[in-house]
Amino acid sequence: MSGKAKVYLVGAGPGEPKLSTLRAKELIERCDVLVYDNLANPELRKWTRNDCLEIDVGKSPGRHTVDQREIEKTLVEHALSGKMVVRLKGGDPFVFGRCAEEMLALDKAGISYEVVPGVTAALACAGYAGLPLSHRECGSTISFLTGHEDLSKESLRVDFRKFAQVGGTLCIYMGMSKLEEIVEKLLEGGLSPDVPAAVVSNGTLPSQRKIISPLKELVSLAKKAAMEAPAIVFIGNAIGKSGDMANWFEKRVLYGRKIVLTRSIDQVSSFKEKLELLGAKVMELPLIRILPSEDKKLITEVFAGIATYEWAVFTSANGAREFMRLFFLAFGDIRSFGPMRIACVGEATAKIFTDHCLEVELVPEKPTAESLAQDLVASDSLDSANVLVVTGNRNRELLVKMLEDVGHAIVDTLPVYETDFADVRKSPDLDDFKKNGADAIIFTSSSTALSYVEQEEDLNLEAGAQKPIHCSFGPETSNTLLENELKVDLECDSPSIDDMIKKLVQHFTQ
Ligand code: SAH
Repeated sequence: MSGKAKVYLVGAGPGEPKLSTLRAKELIERCDVLVYDNLANPELRKWTRNDCLEIDVGKSPGRHTVDQREIEKTLVEHALSGKMVVRLKGGDPFVFGRCAEEMLALDKAGISYEVVPGVTAALACAGYAGLPLSHRECGSTISFLTGHEDLSKESLRVDFRKFAQVGGTLCIYMGMSKLEEIVEKLLEGGLSPDVPAAVVSNGTLPSQRKIISPLKELVSLAKKAAMEAPAIVFIGNAIGKSGDMANWFEKRVLYGRKIVLTRSIDQVSSFKEKLELLGAKVMELPLIRILPSEDKKLITEVFAGIATYEWAVFTSANGAREFMRLFFLAFGDIRSFGPMRIACVGEATAKIFTDHCLEVELVPEKPTAESLAQDLVASDSLDSANVLVVTGNRNRELLVKMLEDVGHAIVDTLPVYETDFADVRKSPDLDDFKKNGADAIIFTSSSTALSYVEQEEDLNLEAGAQKPIHCSFGPETSNTLLENELKVDLECDSPSIDDMIKKLVQHFTQ
């Protein structure tokens, strides 16, 4: 057995990926085999290496849970073949996670293991719903109970009548399918019908919902609100002590809003994160792919003459980013950038240079290639000047033509990346989008809009699905939408993530 053969029994946390531990992340990033179930957020699986073997042992539609003994066998087999195995479980592995059985199986096979605790659902749901679990005056004990562990089991495992006498705060896992019976037993046991109670479902996720009521009304309210699993039931006087600001999760400005991002998959992360922090549920429908351009000969030629350009013009952040990557590969030293002046289409593009302490001399007020060309022409510095235009494979003809014909510049173009339409049928969120729709769809570029138009048939919403508003990053993107008879409901002043978020917040809170 190789030295690293070991099983890590890891808590994934309650749902929100940021609530997983640093240790969990580091192990997921390193492991050879990841054995997971459905309470572990799929986002965590994005941390794995490309060659990691991912094994789903959770329940999914049309398939029963993988038998516990099967799971144990899987862990043992992979560990014995010398693999580093992570067994990822929702919440904390030791809280209603059948971890003890897996430890026993590993013990029997002589395989070493490590346990990584996680934030368990009761603590996470209480925090995210603003419900205190303890209180100096009325909550000195906290109990974690389970309603049932197996739907097929008829009776409750816990004697809830007795827990009515324990008092304090009761946190009931897996309690939804037997809620009526649980409440009945607690009342029979002598718990006051007026004691505060709550249900939090999908805690910490954008779909989190909660209800709060006196115990006697909990069952009818939960039914009315169609509260569904996974959910935790809280009962106790302490949870009634939450204050006016306790709805911090639901009060976030984009809470409950479904926003569709259409950028290429490797470009969405900071946008997604910012939207999620404001409470939005982000759906990913990548409509374009960004591929680095491979024209090595042209790149070498341009870099050989880099000192001869008077202007370097950048029409997109992608181009600027890729140019700087190639530049450092070729030169490794910022001083080789030479004296060329820099012009950028917008602030996000300019930031890539200012981050390297390079001054950007021209950013047009209106973030379009046309305005960029107009401002350059107006600067009266183009006549016979060598100008380098760094672009993708689209939307460059007009700019180059204006610089040459009106400004009389000598233009070299350097395409450093290519934009390709991505097949929307491969998007993980497509089914959800077609079935339920969304509040907004964001077009970051003309290419995302064109790709949308081209694939409209595959994007058709089902009857009753919510039609999203169309949000455009700038005038060029808006024009593409309008030319294709698509409405533009909202447009950025400057094509940046922050400006788009500002506009979305204004739109949804007005
Ligand atoms: N080991 C897990 C619990 C597994 S039992 C932990 O420590 O959290 C599964 C139960 O956990 C669900 O039926 C539900 O009661 C609860 N649960 C898990 N994730 C939840 C979530 N995001 N919101 C509400 N309840 C959750």
